[in-house]
Amino acid sequence: MSFVPPGSGWPGDPATAGTPVAHDPADVRRLAGTSSTLAELTARQSVCRACPRLVDWREEVATVRRRAFADETYWGRPVPGWGDERPSLLIVGLAPAAHGGNRTGRIFTGDRSGDWLFASLHRCGWAAQETSTHAGDGQALRGARVLAAVRCAPPANKPTPQERAACLPWMAREVALVAPTVRVVVALGGFAWQAVWPALREAGYALPRSRPAFGHGVEVAVPHGDRPVTLLGCYHPSQQNTFTGRVTAPMLDEIFTRARSLAV
Ligand code: SF4
Repeated sequence: MSFVPPGSGWPGDPATAGTPVAHDPADVRRLAGTSSTLAELTARQSVCRACPRLVDWREEVATVRRRAFADETYWGRPVPGWGDERPSLLIVGLAPAAHGGNRTGRIFTGDRSGDWLFASLHRCGWAAQETSTHAGDGQALRGARVLAAVRCAPPANKPTPQERAACLPWMAREVALVAPTVRVVVALGGFAWQAVWPALREAGYALPRSRPAFGHGVEVAVPHGDRPVTLLGCYHPSQQNTFTGRVTAPMLDEIFTRARSLAV
């Protein structure tokens, strides 16, 4: 099987065999827009098949697998938003990793970037455990939620502009549903920084006229109604960035500690 059938018992699977499936971008917009709860939205995200290239890729990776995980079953489906249902902190990445989220079914779980991210979230009080290895491992987020701008693992980690546009309604609806509690949005890396702006706009956040350039620690006020919200830039804890020292553990902690002070 090239993916986990919805509702077949995978820990945390939000979908059932009856969850409606989006087959094209118009379906995504309609199904996202009519999702009234996070549970409904994440279920629909997790069975989406709107981008043929990404569906083929995620399922091929799940079939071929990496040697280190050859005995594992891969999730092989879109990776939905995950974490607290009433978060004050929203963390946005670009897309799941082929052998990380696409394998475990949980965003940033089971890959090196996630090791850095969750260790920092734990040190800063946002995560119950310092590691996040697989669905059902006991990890939980406290006051935080993580999502990817594009929900399917893309070849070479590069979704096309069309794929980003197709997936946008899933993120926009999720950002809208958590707006009553969110105070801080952390964008992990320049691609996530670019991708989150249209979602915030669509979800009713007030954006400045000109878009500030991405940088580590850059802060932008993006209020929602009368509620203050801050968009915060953070270098991505990718292997390249952590190997080269462009991102260090204290730098990540600085961001999530700052998020804590902005969230109260
Ligand atoms: S990238 Fe988004 S829109 Fe495209 S198939 Fe995956 S979940 Fe659906």
